[in-house]
Amino acid sequence: MEKAPQTILAQALGWLEPVSGGVIPSIPMSSTFAREGDLSYRAGRVYIRADNPAFEQAEAMLSALEGAQASALFASGMAACTAAILALEPGDHIVAPSVMYWALAAWLGSTAARFGIETTFAPLHQEGALAGALRPGRTKLVWVESPANPLWCITDIAEAAARTHGCGARLIVDSTVATPLLTQPLALGADLVMHSATKALNGHSDLCAGMLATAAKDTFWERILDNRARLGAISGSMEAWLLVRGMRTLHLRVERACANALALAQRLETHPAIAQVLYPGLPSFEGHELAKRQMRNGFGSMLSIRVRGGPEAAIAAAAGCTLWKRATSLGGVESLIEHRASVEGPHSPCPPDLLRLSVGCEALEDLWADLEAALTC
Ligand SMILES: *Cc1c(COP(=O)(O)O)cnc(C)c1O
Repeated sequence: MEKAPQTILAQALGWLEPVSGGVIPSIPMSSTFAREGDLSYRAGRVYIRADNPAFEQAEAMLSALEGAQASALFASGMAACTAAILALEPGDHIVAPSVMYWALAAWLGSTAARFGIETTFAPLHQEGALAGALRPGRTKLVWVESPANPLWCITDIAEAAARTHGCGARLIVDSTVATPLLTQPLALGADLVMHSATKALNGHSDLCAGMLATAAKDTFWERILDNRARLGAISGSMEAWLLVRGMRTLHLRVERACANALALAQRLETHPAIAQVLYPGLPSFEGHELAKRQMRNGFGSMLSIRVRGGPEAAIAAAAGCTLWKRATSLGGVESLIEHRASVEGPHSPCPPDLLRLSVGCEALEDLWADLEAALTC
């Protein structure tokens, strides 16, 4: 029987180091593998760019958590995204959300377009938007992010999967914010799941990595693996080891961060300096009912606040924080606050009075006291 996620994570699947019996893996550092006299390879591994054994434990853990046939570790979340998109053909069409991770939206609109892959951006969290954006015969990939940066819009993954498959396309879900513990995109019908492992999977803000998990080991997946090897979008062995170490506590970190985020969202909602709190766990949030159906174990560690005094007041509030660190990224044990519009630039759907909060694992009262002081001054 498949073990519970907490057990898979805490024991990193219970793998033992094959030479010493260590309960922690060693770090294989070889870039090349010896051939036998008959030219065969002892373990089927030839060269590090395609065959690094250091990736296998993190990949097997993600496959177990996502219910996937296979997973692949990449040099970054963006490397995972671009490897999947470059598995398409020139002339293929993508539908992507108008609210999504900004750097990928920018790449789709520039480099991907230059290589003949066209993207239509549509508000996929709204009913009917996907149906209107699909181009039967041309659309080959639908990209969904849920909850989506930085407004945390929730998209109905099961509905998107049905429509996407009806059009003969594949559905990929950026589930970075949800983590494998809060949403199961493959069980809802998605074909691929993407994670920036730089974020919650690792959780300690000390490495850069990305992961994909697939429902089928098909030719599209083979192309993705080929892209990883040929474009060299590979992680290092040290990073792969650190990622497994970080993932062992994912369930504890997510549980704590979700509880902190919900409590902060509830308190912020009644604060006089706040115009709006965007958090899927609040009944006032547009996608709350869908989030209740689609997510489990919590609504995530990410929330945004719109400050009543406008952009200047928002920037001043971030400046007034001392415990919350002013930095980009998310999913770490330490809480971060960020004036998001100044990061995303002029094409972003992010309102200029918005602060994005990545809630960590500190004591709730310390987080609240620092935030409240910054909002009041
Ligand atoms: C950070 C992030 C990415 C990109 O991942 P990197 O590891 O920074 O390359 C993609 N999607 C989401 C939702 C992210 O937060």
